[in-house]
Parts: sequence; C-alpha cells; structure tokens
Amino acid sequence: MPFDYAPAPESRSIVDIKSSYGLFIGGEFVDGSGSAFKSISPASEEVLAEIAEATADDVDRAVRAARQAHTRVWSKLPGSERAKYLYRIARIMAERSREFAVLESLDNGKPIRESRDVDLPLVSQWFFYYAGWADKLSYAGLGPDPRALGVAGQIIPWNFPIMMLAWKIAPALAAGNTVVLKPAETTPLTALLFAEVCQQADLPPGVVNIVTGAGSTGQALVDHADVDKIAFTGSTAVGKAIARSIAGTDKVATLELGGKAANIVFDDAPLDQAIEGIVRGIFFNQGHVCCAGSRLLVQENVYDEVLERLKRRMSTLRLGDPLDKNTDIGAINSAEQLARITALSDAGDAEGAERWSVPCDLPDNGFWFAPTIFTGVTQAHRIAREEIFGPVLSVLTFRTPSEAIEKANNTPYGLSAGVWTDKGSRILAMADRLRAGVVWANTFNQFDPASPFGGYKESGYGREGGKPGLAAYLEGSPA
Ligand code: NDP
Repeated sequence: MPFDYAPAPESRSIVDIKSSYGLFIGGEFVDGSGSAFKSISPASEEVLAEIAEATADDVDRAVRAARQAHTRVWSKLPGSERAKYLYRIARIMAERSREFAVLESLDNGKPIRESRDVDLPLVSQWFFYYAGWADKLSYAGLGPDPRALGVAGQIIPWNFPIMMLAWKIAPALAAGNTVVLKPAETTPLTALLFAEVCQQADLPPGVVNIVTGAGSTGQALVDHADVDKIAFTGSTAVGKAIARSIAGTDKVATLELGGKAANIVFDDAPLDQAIEGIVRGIFFNQGHVCCAGSRLLVQENVYDEVLERLKRRMSTLRLGDPLDKNTDIGAINSAEQLARITALSDAGDAEGAERWSVPCDLPDNGFWFAPTIFTGVTQAHRIAREEIFGPVLSVLTFRTPSEAIEKANNTPYGLSAGVWTDKGSRILAMADRLRAGVVWANTFNQFDPASPFGGYKESGYGREGGKPGLAAYLEGSPA
C-alpha cells in the first residue's frame, strides 16, 4: 500500500508570468503579426499566458537579426569571448533554476521533482560544458580553422522544453553560430523566460532569437533561404517532411526523431535495480521521452517475478499535482497527446494484449493517464511497433540473447536500448549488436553533456552532445 503523504506543493510565487508575450527578435520583445494563442497548464487547463504567433514575415525578421548579429558581432568575437557569455548564461540558469523549474512544471505538466532535479541541472551543465569548448575549437581535431555554419534554425518539442533549448543553443553558440529557435506551441514559456536571461547576460542582440507559433512557424523557418542549418527534435513524420523540404538546398540538418527502445532484462540481472530502471525508463516524464524504454523484454524464466515486482513498485507511484514535491507522475502535455495515447492503448486491447493500470484517482481537470502495462504483447501489435509517447509499457519475453537482439532490433527506430545483466561481457556483446545510438547498461535515461546522443534509421541522423554535437554546427561536418 502506498503511504499517505500530506501535500507538499512548491510555491509558484517565485515565477512572474506575464499575461502576454511577444517574440524575441534582435534582443527585444516585439509584437507578432499572427493570431495570438494561449498556453495552458495541462494539469488544470488554467490559461497561463497569451503568446504571439510568428508569421513568415516575423521569421524573416528574426533570421535577418540573426544574420546581422553573426556577420557584425558573433563571428568576430574570439572563442574565449563567446565562452564568457556562455559561462554567464550557465551561472544565471543555475541561480534561477528554481524559477525555471516551477515555470516548466506549470507549462509542461511534468513533476517538479524532475524539472528541479533533472531538467534544470542538465541545462546549466550543457551551457558550462559547451562554454569550455568555445576557445578550443582549433585544437580539437575539428580541422585547423573550424568555421561556424552561420544562422541555425532550431525547432524543439514540448517534452523537455528548456532542456532541448539548452541542447540546441549551447553548442550552436559555442561554435560561433547565431540562432532562431522555435519552441513547441504548448510549451513556450521557459524559452521566453530564457530570452530574459539573454538580456540579463548582455548577450549581443540577435545572437539568440525566439519565435513562437505552431507548425507553420517552424515550416517558415525551415523554408527560409538564409538559414544555414536546421536542428530539429520531434516526430519522425515532421522530421521526414523537413528532410524533404531542404533536399537540394545548401542547408544541413540534424534530426532527432522518435524511438521504441527495448529495455532488456536477463535472468542474472540485479532485479531490484532493474525494476527501478524499468520504471525510470518508461514512467519518467510521463513516458514523453523519445528514448523511453517502451518495450520491456524479459527473459522468460524471470518473467513472473519481474512482473510481480514491477506491479508492486508501480502501485507506489504517486500521480497528481506536478508542483507537489511527492508527485512521480504529472499531467499528459495536451489533450491531443492524451487522445493519441488513448487510441494506441485501445488498439492494444483490440489486438488482444492484456492491460493493467495502476489503480489511482485521476484529477477531474487537466489531462491524465494512469501508468499502464500491457502483457501478452507480440511483435506484430501496434503497441510494440509505434511510439506511444506516454506512460504505457509493452512487455514481451525472450529465451536467448540472440532472440533478445532480434526482437530489440525489430523496429524502424534505433535511438536507445537498455541491458540489465550481471555480466560485463554480455553487456559488451549486446551493445555491439544492438542497433541503437545509445545503449545503457544497468541504468536507463541517463544524460551527460559529454556523451553524444542520437539515432539510427527512423530515429534520425546527426548527434547532439559531446564533440560530435559541436561538429554539427561547424562547416564541413557530416551532419
Ligand atoms: P511534432 O514533431 O509535430 O513537433 C515538434 C516540433 O516541430 C514542434 O515545435 C512543432 O511545432 C514543430 N513542427 C510541427 N510541424 C512542423 C513543420 N511542418 N515544419 C517545422 N516544424 C514543425 O510533434 P507533436 O507535438 O505533434 O507530437 C506528435 C508525436 O511525435 C508524439 O506523439 C510523439 O510520438 C512524437 N514526438 C517525439 C518527440 C521526440 O523527442 N522524439 C518529441 C515530440 C513528439 P508545434 O508544437 O507548435 O506544432
């Protein structure tokens, strides 16, 4: 039985949400020309703020500001000077992390425990890490005179809004590019607060520009003739559309798309840790994670034990107010995403898999989905093949390592995988044969700025993080 906890809400008074926000172009907030839209809290459906919509003309203004800042200022600064700005931003993000964490949980619906302890610490780590690279480009095996690409158009999703911003902006600026970034329509608020951080850091105007809007704003950025690079994280469908749009142009792209990762548990695994890893793999961030361990592969002889322990552990997960410090599972990010998760789960029922959900009360307002597992899943089921992007785990079994490899690789995606076993040699053998950009061993969903991240096949191309993440913003890079 779960314990009863008294509510422990984080105060939202630290955040000052304005009633409306403009676009951030050339170092200033300016009006947008499109129709303003609302950003709501997915946990309560409360309207948080009205947001300007950037049209193609506004995107053009932002790209021109970024080009001018690149030509006149940013490209002329030595790396050591760029580094100073990045260190300054890193420090401000660390100082203001509580404010950002509360705003992120309000706008996205993720538990404060995660925004406070995972997303925001990683944001300042990312800026610190790439600040350290900015003056070392010429000595890093990136060619004798590494040159920035110029203006980067960056399009990010709603699952890790401020973290994805940091993953995109930090390496781009360190390498000497200027950027125009479009946050997701449902989660623009932390990007707009970051615009204030750019002002606070005295970042030269136009080095970072933020244009808010929906898919058409992103499309205008992709189509703009003076953008040198597109960095995109999001769905495979939109990633493919972007690749088609830029085919035949001089633009380069990194595409970080979907996933359907296998989390493989062998019979010699430390089961207590493995259960924690399974839970972290699929229920972290409500399963809104491209590298989520959404397919659990359990060796047959420990299947019953794993299932029993997993259900017991899942029953202790606490779902509810994202700002409550005891909450493990927050709100689903939008009504649309909830509808997608519901439709795919219903397909699991219809195709004969067996559903089990944590018995819990769902709040009356907002968008919620109880942590769920499906057993009796076969590889043909849609819930074993398609990205659900929610707190839903499909459980399959295997008998031999080869069977595990075959099933794990039987997916159009190739972003991540997990292996749980006592044997180091087995970890290495499995990692060698798994077609996934990241393979975690006896852990899951761990991120580090020094560690490159990215996929194979329909999970996209190019790498973010580490030196490869820097190369992706320099001329002559493969990405
Ligand atoms: P999208 O791929 O539509 O959104 C990602 C970003 O791209 C958003 O900023 C979005 O804007 C923007 N965008 C949308 N259409 C275009 C376009 N034609 N040109 C340029 N930019 C565009 O993801 P969704 O939010 O629709 O989610 C759908 C599914 O995608 C999810 O269910 C999940 O399976 C997967 N997904 C995967 C992610 C990952 O990290 N791999 C992240 C998010 C989703 P806007 O939000 O304003 O529409």
